[in-house]
Amino acid sequence: MSDHNKKAPASRDSAKHKEELQHKELLSIRAARNRLFVCFWTLPVYVYAVNQLLSAGNSSSLIMYSYMLLYAFFGISASVKRCPDCHEQFFVKRFFLNPFRSQCAHCGLSFKHL
Ligand SMILES: [Zn+2]
Repeated sequence: MSDHNKKAPASRDSAKHKEELQHKELLSIRAARNRLFVCFWTLPVYVYAVNQLLSAGNSSSLIMYSYMLLYAFFGISASVKRCPDCHEQFFVKRFFLNPFRSQCAHCGLSFKHL
């Protein structure tokens, strides 16, 4: 009939496409946060390993630097994640990374429902 009716499915498709993209973005944001949490959770293992190395008289600098690098890498990869809605940094409100939040620091978009 009119142009409006012809365009309706296309706009619905693009809305669906946008939603899928947002879903993917939120999944990758959640994955980045989970990788950072793996670092938090393995801290006791790291402390134990360093302690064992030191008590055996070995140098622990290799494991210390590797752990710090891993931590920095995951921290940076989480902090650069952008919200798919407002395009601000998802975990960073002003200067500090807060990986405990599950909502965007700026617009409140959440990945809890995923
Ligand atoms: Zn946002």
